[in-house]
Parts: sequence; C-alpha cells; structure tokens
Amino acid sequence: MSDLNALVEATKATLQRIADEFTPAVFASSLAAEDMVLTDLILRAKLPIGIFTLETGRLHKETLGMVDRIKETYGYDVALYKPETDAVDAYVKQNGLNAFYDSVEMRKECCRIRKVEPLNRALAGNKAWITGQRRAQSTTRAELAVQEDDAAHAMTKFNPLADWSEDDVWNYIRTNNVPYNPLHDKGYPSIGCEPCTRAIQPGEDVRAGRWWWENPESKECGLHVVDGKLVRIKAVSHA
Ligand code: SF4
Repeated sequence: MSDLNALVEATKATLQRIADEFTPAVFASSLAAEDMVLTDLILRAKLPIGIFTLETGRLHKETLGMVDRIKETYGYDVALYKPETDAVDAYVKQNGLNAFYDSVEMRKECCRIRKVEPLNRALAGNKAWITGQRRAQSTTRAELAVQEDDAAHAMTKFNPLADWSEDDVWNYIRTNNVPYNPLHDKGYPSIGCEPCTRAIQPGEDVRAGRWWWENPESKECGLHVVDGKLVRIKAVSHA
C-alpha cells in the first residue's frame, strides 16, 4: 500500500502541475476504471480541469450510466462530445452500420468519425489534455510517458497513470470507494464501444477484448492519427 501511496502522491502532484502550468487543460475520460481514479483525484481536489467523454453513439448502457454515477457522487456534469450526424449517416448509408468488422480501414474510418473528430473538437483551445492510459495495458503503450509532446494536436499530453499497474488502479478504487463501470466485474478489463468490445477469459491480455478480430499492433482508436497515419508522440522529461 505504501507504493500505492507514493503513486497517488506523484499523480496528485502531476495533476496540480497541470492545473498550475497548463490551464486550460481537459481530461478525456472513457469512463473506465483508470479514468475513474483520475476523475476522483481531479474532482476531490477541485482542480480547474474539465472532464469530457466521447459519446460515440455505440457505448454500452453501463458505460453511459457512469455519467450519472459521477453526477451523483461528485455533483459534476461530464461534457459529452458526439460525432457529426451527417458523417455518421453517410458512413452507415455507404458501408452499413457495422462495417468496422470488414477491414482495419473501415474500423479506423468509423473511429475517425465517432472518436477522432469529436476529440479534436473537445481539445481545441486547450494547452494540455489528460488520459487514463497505462504503460502495461498493451504493446502499443509500452513506451508511454507521463508527459509527452502531442504533435498531432499541438499540445502537451499527460498520462498521469502511466506507471500504475492494474492492481494499483483497483486498490485505489476499493480503498477510496470510487464508483466504477459494472462491466469490469463481468470480464471487461478494457471497455470501448459495445460492438467492438467483448469479455475476456482469465489469463488473456487485458486488451484482448478490444477489436479482437485485429492484430495487437493495430489496436488503437486512432486518437493520435494525422492524415491516416499513427503519429509518434515524443516523451518529455519532467521534474
Ligand atoms: S470502437 Fe468500433 S463502433 Fe466505436 S468508433 Fe471505433 S469502430 Fe466505431
């Protein structure tokens, strides 16, 4: 637990530094366990950091229900960013509602419309954004740093939980009675859109249930993609 206390203090210090030096800053929450840890730390400290989620139109009802849980617990209204209706309608009309199963390109185009474009709108005008990503979550996050230069969005990106393990996340949630998505108790360690997430079996990789029909290397939303290419984000050393 002492290691967790040290992690929590370091994370509080990172969030305070963001509030002091990078205002305006926003936290992109997917309403999953990691995001609830950050939500708890931000809202308990009353930091001037806005919290939003990408309401893709394909989320589980349990995930959307977390917006109400946050309101009940902290009295905070999470901002919802939705895709452009015309873009969704055009994609569905041309390709079908679930065309993301057909190819990586079709999947990334759906993510671009439902996640990337709304994310860009949500980030506009901010100096920094925050995610709940952890290094141990997947092969695509092995080099994740707490602070990075996000060239794609021309701002600084913070991953305050980069050093946290899955056990650290759950120890924090249980110790502090933080509300969490009930899907985590049903075999979903990582939760995205409903048609692109399945429960996993014991021993499977924690992100094995995300876009399970694709190779591990392609399993990202494209939230760091410019002109269809993954953009490398440069880590920044910090005190
Ligand atoms: S996760 Fe699936 S449904 Fe959600 S935006 Fe990406 S492809 Fe579309």
